[in-house]
Amino acid sequence: MHTTNGSQRLHVVVVGGGIGGLALGAGLRRHGHEVAVFDRDTDVTATGGYHITLDERALSALDRLVAPEVLRGLLASGSALRLRDRDVFFDHRGRALGYGPDLSGSKSIDVDRITLRVLLAEAVGADLHLGKAVTDVGTGADGRPRVGFADGTTVSADLVVGADGTHSLVARHLAAAPTNRPAGIIGFSGRTRRSDLTTAEQRRLGTRSTMGIGPRGAALYVGFLDPIGNAALDAPELSRSVTTGPTYIWGAMFPESARTDSLRELHGAALCTALLDRFREHRWAAHTLEVIARTDPGSVAAFRFNAASTRAGDLAPWPAGRITALGDAVHATPPTAGMGAGAAIQDAADLLDALSGTALTEAIERYEARMRERGGEVLTAAMRTVRLILATNTTLGALATAALCPLAATITRYLCTAS
Ligand SMILES: Cc1cc2nc3c(=O)[nH]c(=O)nc-3n(C[C@H](O)[C@H](O)[C@H](O)COP(=O)(O)OP(=O)(O)OC[C@H]3O[C@@H](n4cnc5c(N)ncnc54)[C@H](O)[C@@H]3O)c2cc1C
Repeated sequence: MHTTNGSQRLHVVVVGGGIGGLALGAGLRRHGHEVAVFDRDTDVTATGGYHITLDERALSALDRLVAPEVLRGLLASGSALRLRDRDVFFDHRGRALGYGPDLSGSKSIDVDRITLRVLLAEAVGADLHLGKAVTDVGTGADGRPRVGFADGTTVSADLVVGADGTHSLVARHLAAAPTNRPAGIIGFSGRTRRSDLTTAEQRRLGTRSTMGIGPRGAALYVGFLDPIGNAALDAPELSRSVTTGPTYIWGAMFPESARTDSLRELHGAALCTALLDRFREHRWAAHTLEVIARTDPGSVAAFRFNAASTRAGDLAPWPAGRITALGDAVHATPPTAGMGAGAAIQDAADLLDALSGTALTEAIERYEARMRERGGEVLTAAMRTVRLILATNTTLGALATAALCPLAATITRYLCTAS
C-alpha cells in the first residue's frame, strides 16, 4: 500500500494528542498513512492554557499538514499580530523602557489554545482516541514498537511518536532520563476582559503584548487577544474562537522558592490576592496590577516552567529508530518566547516530509537532526527572558534594575517626544 505521494504506507501510533501530536496525526492521515493518536484527556475542549502564538513558519508547517479549510478556520479564529500596537517593555512602576519590533508586516497570529486543539482534533477525526493513558512503551517480540495503556491493552505499529509533552514517557524511555528540568521560574496565568480595566490602564496596555520587569525576579507579561476585532482572516462565519472580545492574557512570573511554590496550593480569589501581595512587596505600582486585581478568578492557574538544554547536540540523545518524539517531549520550552507550540507543529511537518521516500531509520535520522537544531533555537530564545528575570533576583541585579529602570524610562520618553 502507498500514500498520496507514492511512499510506503505506514502504521503510526502517536502518543499524546496535544498540539504537536494532533498536527502530526492530521498530516499523516491526510497523506494516506494509517494513524492512531492516543491522549489521556477525555475531552479536547476541557484543555488548559490560553493563547498560543503561531509565527509564519508554524503557519506554513500547518499548511503542509492540514486541509486548506482547517487553516482558514484557524486564521478566522486568530488574532493578527500585524493589527496590534507595537509591543512595550515596562518596569514595575509602569514606565516604558523600550519598544518591540514593528509588527505591521507580521503574518503571525495568536489563537486560543482550546480553539487550536479542537480544530486539529477535528482534522484527525476518528483516528483520535481519548481517555487512553499510555503507561508503557517498548519493542515487542516481533521487533515492532509497541505501547501499553493503563486499561491493559497494547498496540503495535511501524513507528511510534511520543508527542506527550514536557513529562513525556516516550522520550524518557528513549533517553533513559528526563529530557528537561525546572527552569527556575513559576508562572501564574489568567484572563481579564479589556473592558474591566480603567480607561487609563486600557490606554497604557493598549492592543499589544507588554512585558513588565522589576527587582527580585518579579515579572508580568500581558498579552492581547482579540480574535473578533483583529481577526487574521475576515470570515466570521468560520470563526471558532472561544474568546469573544478584547482580552488580556497575563502571566505573572517569580523565581522558584519554597515561598512561591506554596502559592500553587491556592486557587481563585485567594491566589489572586496572594499574587498581588507578592508584587506589592516588590513595590509594583498599583495601576500595573489592575490586570490581576480585575481578572476572572476562575481563570487563574499555576504553571511550572520546564526547559530542555539550549544546546541542539544535547537534545534527543538516542540513536534513530522506530520510536521517536517531537515537541515539548524533546525540547520542552518555557512560554517566554511564545514558540513551543509552533516548534511542535514544525516538528510534525518535518517528520511527515521525511517519511516520504527513504528508508524509515534514515528518515527518522534526518527528521531528528532538524528537530534538534530547531529545539536549540527556540530554547535559546525562551531562556533569554528566563535568565533576564532570574538575573534581577541577585543583589547586583536588584540594584541594577532599581538604578537603570528610571534611566531607561527617561531615555525612552525623550526619544518618543523627539520622534
Ligand atoms: C495544559 C497546558 C496549557 C498550556 N498553556 C499554554 C499557554 O497558555 N501558552 C503557551 O504558549 N503554551 C501553553 N502550553 C504549552 C504549549 O501548548 C506546548 O508548548 C505546545 O503545545 C507543545 O506541544 P506538544 O504537542 O509537544 O505538547 P502538549 O501540547 O503539551 O501535548 C502533550 C499531550 O500529551 C498528553 N499526554 C501526556 N502524557 C500522556 C500519556 N502518558 N498518555 C497519553 N497522553 C499523554 C497530554 O494530555 C497532552 O495533551 C500549555 C501546555 C499545556 C499542557
